[in-house]
Amino acid sequence: MPEHDDAPAAPAPPALATQLIHHAYQPPAGFDSPAVSVCKGSTVYFSSVADLRQRRWVDKSGYTYGLHGTPTTFTLEARLATLEHARHVLLAPSGLSALTVVDLALLQAGDVVLLPDNVYAPSRDFARQELARFGVAHRLYDPLDAAGLAAALGPEVKLVWLEAPGSVTLEFPDLRGLVAQVRRLAPQAIVALDNTWGAGIAFNPFELGDVDGQPQGVDLTIHALTKYPSGGGDVLMGSIACRDTALYEKLAWTHSRLGLGVGGNDAELVLRNLSTLALRYAAQDASARRIAAWAQGQPGVRRVLHPALPDSPGHAHWAAHCRAAAGLLTLEMDPALPAAAVDALVDGLRHFRIGWSWGGPVSLAVPYQARFMRSLDHPWQGVLVRLCIGLEATEDLIADLAAGLAALPPVASD
Ligand SMILES: *Cc1c(COP(=O)(O)O)cnc(C)c1O
Repeated sequence: MPEHDDAPAAPAPPALATQLIHHAYQPPAGFDSPAVSVCKGSTVYFSSVADLRQRRWVDKSGYTYGLHGTPTTFTLEARLATLEHARHVLLAPSGLSALTVVDLALLQAGDVVLLPDNVYAPSRDFARQELARFGVAHRLYDPLDAAGLAAALGPEVKLVWLEAPGSVTLEFPDLRGLVAQVRRLAPQAIVALDNTWGAGIAFNPFELGDVDGQPQGVDLTIHALTKYPSGGGDVLMGSIACRDTALYEKLAWTHSRLGLGVGGNDAELVLRNLSTLALRYAAQDASARRIAAWAQGQPGVRRVLHPALPDSPGHAHWAAHCRAAAGLLTLEMDPALPAAAVDALVDGLRHFRIGWSWGGPVSLAVPYQARFMRSLDHPWQGVLVRLCIGLEATEDLIADLAAGLAALPPVASD
């Protein structure tokens, strides 16, 4: 149909940053404040026994018990669903507990779960130490090798975890290709993504694009809200998001039977910081990219791992899937450098502190011996220094790293 010149143009949907700030919220009557109230309560009163018997929590149509949700946690769940274009969200006391609820809800004795070799290490430990005791086996696959994943798939595989990019080594997988592979060879399996790095900003995991004319997307995601959504380094929380209602109810019942809940004050901290998520993510992305570009060719650095750099593993997949990147990069140090010299470099940094969690205002550095962290074939020999870029001025961070790298002992290969 030809367009009429005088037809009013449909307004473009607001950007995510706008949606997160102008998200629907019903404040208490007569108190029209933008800040979401902190609601607390273990007990919730019912007006009658009939009311007690009728009210349901699982579809969020009512409040029944503190552990099953409050107005504060329901608001946080709704905003997280908006962030990721999901329909249902559950909150968990940590990112790790969000991961383990998914495993426990979807696996039973005789099943197999697949994990990428560069998975968040405690997820692998959970499979090795806990799932194994219940008769659930796990297999590791190389996230950059589609044929390797195909070989690991079979009717016994009920859950496939993805992570993009992988922990520490930051290889970015062909997400839509891997999902298509699972749909073809193990249609019974649920595909779960640990989307902590993407944070709902870098790409949309439920709409990854087409493979052979078929739209691809994961079934569920988990997040460590501890990282970017909290943004302050002061909250531990996780979330699980999905679109399918039957899958959500399965996860919600296991979550409920495990007795998991989050505190109202913590939920409010995440809500407050969600309104600056897009801004902080963009700033940390820009700073990390500048530092990654600068670090290439610096003394002692063999290669810089950051998915936006052309020679970082899986760069083409990152470029095909993502519009942004988190503030993480890893320096692959010259393997001729003694590990102690790299430790001393990290010890000597002034603005980078030594610590695990990331996504807050403070930049962090941790050295890893990657060759001890992988099970499959891998190229990692020297020490890897993972840097999490905070919100300090980029020049200060570069000056800090430059001084540390300049003080490294000379190595034969230089
Ligand atoms: C931090 C992290 C987790 C775990 O989150 P916690 O809240 O610390 O338990 C899971 N996955 C990834 C990728 C993470 O970076």
